[in-house]
Amino acid sequence: MNELKKYFAVIGNPIHHSLSPQIHAAFAKESEIDMSYEAVLSPLDQFQDTVKKLITQKFTGVNVTLPFKKEAYALASTHSNQAKIAEAVNTLEFKDNQIIGHNTDGIGLVRDLEQNLHVKLANQKILLIGAGGAAEGVIYSMLEKEPSELTLTNRTIEKSNAIQNKMHAYAKNFNVNLNVIEIQKLPHHYFDVIINATSTSLIDADLGIDNKVFHAKCLAYDMMYGKETSFIKEAKSQGSKTSDGLGMLVEQAAEAFFIWHQVKPQTKPVINLLRKV
Ligand code: NDP
Repeated sequence: MNELKKYFAVIGNPIHHSLSPQIHAAFAKESEIDMSYEAVLSPLDQFQDTVKKLITQKFTGVNVTLPFKKEAYALASTHSNQAKIAEAVNTLEFKDNQIIGHNTDGIGLVRDLEQNLHVKLANQKILLIGAGGAAEGVIYSMLEKEPSELTLTNRTIEKSNAIQNKMHAYAKNFNVNLNVIEIQKLPHHYFDVIINATSTSLIDADLGIDNKVFHAKCLAYDMMYGKETSFIKEAKSQGSKTSDGLGMLVEQAAEAFFIWHQVKPQTKPVINLLRKV
């Protein structure tokens, strides 16, 4: 191992599809940082061992993706505020014999919406579809931007109710009306920003959303990237502005890069590069 070089990885299962090695290589090149970043496939029951092995190999940090974000939270000895609230970790930092857990998904989403897509969230009515790790990981960052309303919906509505109960106090602090509506009862032409944080696009399953929820003045954002999903197609059919989640992916990576190197990389060139590929 080169003593001056720093070593990083992304751990997941599966992991072959991950764009993180390309993104971090581009950031490192631009910032002239000597580092390596590899994709590591962890067996489903060996996440902790995989991380500990990388620590003994003098890695500085890792990103964590499906299905290990909760395990990464449990493994970390200290947590950032975002990770603590989400109870999920996508970035680990190994420093001073500690494992520090961060969650950069929320910052990534908000930066993509506000800086890349120029959609400010303050005073807006937002609909968040889904109640899995991705949805839970971004709620606090959205509340911080003080939308007037954040509506949660999900196939299993009990999960949305549980998140609402957990986040109620934060929503009150930021003066946001945080509510839950069943997917079949969503009002038509009402929301300014509609975010799909479900995994339906991965399997092309039907979300069961009435396309009148979309309209010409709203942004429909699918966290999924790499293909035009049926969510995006339906939104386009109603004249909505749309975006996939590639920008979020690059922005969450940029925040992890900042945590590890204290350098803020340029994200737009990397988003453009990945779009071309
Ligand atoms: P989880 O497995 O934790 O959650 C899955 C969610 O999808 C749940 O709300 C689940 O509903 C819902 N869902 C699954 N199948 C269906 C279906 N057939 N009909 C309706 N709802 C369904 O996944 P994550 O939250 O971690 O990830 C969600 C998505 O976000 C993925 O596509 C992932 O790729 C993407 N993502 C993108 C990121 C980016 O940087 N762009 C970062 C993180 C995630 P139920 O509760 O009822 O099961």
